[in-house]
Amino acid sequence: MKLWSQYFIPTLKESPADAEIASHRLLIRAGLVRKLGGGLYTYLPLGLRVVQKLTQICREEMERIGGIELAMPYLHPAAGWEEGPRWPAVREVMFRADSAGDGPRGPKEPEFVLGPTHEEVITPLAKIELTSYRDLPKTFFQIGTKFRNEIRPRYGLMRAKEFLMMDAYSFDADDAGAARSYQAMKLGYERFFQRIGAAAIAVEADTGVMGGSFSHEFMVPAEIGDDDLFYNEESGYAANREKATSALVPADLADAAPTGAIEEFATPGVVTIAALGAAPYDVPAERQFKTLVYVGDGRPFLVVLRGCDELEEAKLGALGFIKVRPATPEEIAPVLGARPGSLGAVRGTIAQPAALAGVFADHAVRLVGNGVTGANRDGVHLRGVNVARDLAIDRFGDFRRVRPGEPDPVGGRPLQVRRGIEVGHIFLLGTKYSESYGATFTDDQKTTRKFVMGCYGIGLSRTLQALIEQGHDADGIVWPWAIAPFQVLICLLDPQLPEAMALARRLAEAAERGGADVLVDDRAERPGVKFTDADLLGLPLRITIGGRGLKEGIVEMKWRRSPEVAKVPVDACEATVEAMVRERGGAAG
Ligand code: ATP
Ligand code: MG
Repeated sequence: MKLWSQYFIPTLKESPADAEIASHRLLIRAGLVRKLGGGLYTYLPLGLRVVQKLTQICREEMERIGGIELAMPYLHPAAGWEEGPRWPAVREVMFRADSAGDGPRGPKEPEFVLGPTHEEVITPLAKIELTSYRDLPKTFFQIGTKFRNEIRPRYGLMRAKEFLMMDAYSFDADDAGAARSYQAMKLGYERFFQRIGAAAIAVEADTGVMGGSFSHEFMVPAEIGDDDLFYNEESGYAANREKATSALVPADLADAAPTGAIEEFATPGVVTIAALGAAPYDVPAERQFKTLVYVGDGRPFLVVLRGCDELEEAKLGALGFIKVRPATPEEIAPVLGARPGSLGAVRGTIAQPAALAGVFADHAVRLVGNGVTGANRDGVHLRGVNVARDLAIDRFGDFRRVRPGEPDPVGGRPLQVRRGIEVGHIFLLGTKYSESYGATFTDDQKTTRKFVMGCYGIGLSRTLQALIEQGHDADGIVWPWAIAPFQVLICLLDPQLPEAMALARRLAEAAERGGADVLVDDRAERPGVKFTDADLLGLPLRITIGGRGLKEGIVEMKWRRSPEVAKVPVDACEATVEAMVRERGGAAG
C-alpha cells in the first residue's frame, strides 16, 4: 500500500502544448512521464510501475515458450556492425557514441554506436558459444533500452529516440526448426498481449528480401496509428498495407492479344496521367502505363504500373537492393532519353538499356490490353502498346498499393482498411546474419552449417501508451487490470478521521491478499479534486470512505469502466473487496 501524500504523482489540469494525441496528453497529465527533450522521457513512479508490470509479464511469457533471458551492452563497437549486413542501411538512424576527440578510426567513422537492436551482437556470440547441433534450438531474449535517431520523434513514447524493447533471437539448425521457433514466439506474443489487455492483432508484414509470410506485426487498432491494415474478418486475412495484396489480377489471366501496331502521337506539354486522361487525348488511367525510375544500390531501374495504380515503395524491398531511392530527373534523362512525363518501357525506345539494373512490372499491368505509354522522347507518347509483345519487362511482381474494396487474396471478400499502432514484430531472418558473421555449427553428419535465425521485438514503452490510447475516455485513462500501476484506489474523503484511516488500512490489506496493489488517497484535498484525479489516473477499482458514509455504516465501490456506484456495508466490505479483487485478477486483461 502506498499513501498518495507520501508518494509522487504530479497530476496536471492542463496538457502540454506539444501533446497532439489523447494518450500523450494523459501520460503527462496523470503524472506517468515527463519530457527531457524531443523523444526523451523520464518515467515518474506511476509510469515506472506500469513499465515494471509489462516487463514482468513479458518475461514470464517469453520464458513460458522456452526463451532464455540475457542482457547485452547498449554501447557497441562500430567495427562489429560494419561486418553485418545492414550497416549501410541503418547507420543513419544510429546514434554514434564516440569518445572525446577523434578515435583511431578518424573523424568520419564512429568508434561506438548505441544499439537500435542486437542482431549484430548476438550473432557473433552464438557463433562462439553454439557450436553443435546439440546446442540447438535456442531462443535468447532481453528487455532493455534501444536507441534510434528518429527524424521525427512524436506522440510521446510512441516514437521516441530512446525506448524500451523486449528483443529476442532464435537459432535453429534448419528452416523447419526456425519455423517452429517462429510459431512459438507468435504464441508467446499472443499470450502476452492478451494478458496485458491489449487488443493486438497479428497482421502479415513486409518481409523485404525474405518473401513468404514469415513476418507478422502485432497491431493495436487506433485512429492515430502510423500503419494501414487491410483485412477481411470473415476471410481472416490481415496485412500491413506495405505487404497487402489482393486478388485483383486472376491467377489464370491470359495475356491480351495485340490488336494492331504501336503508333506514335504528339503530346506536347503533357506530363501527367491526368492530362493524358483529359481531352483531346482521353486515355483513361486504367489504360495508361506509368513508368517510374528508382535507383537501387547506385543503379537505376524501372517500375511499370497501371496509370491508375500507386507504387507501394516498401514492396521494392523484394528486389533485394540494400538502398533504394527515387531517381532524380537529371539521372533519368541520359538513361531513358526523356524527362519524367514521357517515359516508357517499350523495347527499343530506352536510350541506355544496359545502364538499367532491371525493368520490373506490377502484375496488374497485364490487365491493360492495348495501352498508352511514353515514347522516351519529350512530348511523344505511344498507343497500341501490348504488355507481352512490347514491354521490355525482366520480372513481374507485386508493387502496387491495394485499395479498400478489392477482393482479399484468401477468400475474395472485399478488403477493409483501418489504422493501427505497431506494438510488436516477429521476423524469420533466415541465414542473412549467420552468413555475414560466418556463424555456423556442426550437424550430426559433422557438416558445417549456418544457423537459421529469427528476430523478434515488442516495443514495451510504445505498448504502454497504446494501451492508454486504446482504453481512455473523456475523463482519463482506463487501465486494464494486469498492468494498472495500482489496481485499487482508496479515496479518503476525510483523511483526518482515525477510523477512516484504520478502515482504509484493513481494506488495503484485504485487497493485497487478493493480489492487488493499493494506493490510498490521503491528501488533504476537496472530494472534487480527488474524484477528478481518480478518473484521470484510471485505476480499475475505486473505494470511497467518507465520514458521512461511516456514520451510515457504508463505503462506496466503483469500477472505473462503469458509472454504477455500489454501497457496501462496512462489516462486509473487507470480504467483498478481497473477493472482487480475486475474481478480477483471475480474469484476463
Ligand atoms: P516503426 O515502423 O514504427 O518505425 P520498426 O518497424 O522500425 O517501427 P522494429 O525494428 O520492428 O520497429 O522494432 C520492434 C518494435 O519496437 C516495434 O514493433 C515498435 O513497437 C517498437 N519501436 C520501434 N521504433 C520505436 C520508437 N522509435 N519508439 C518507440 N517504440 C519503437
Ligand atoms: Mg517493425
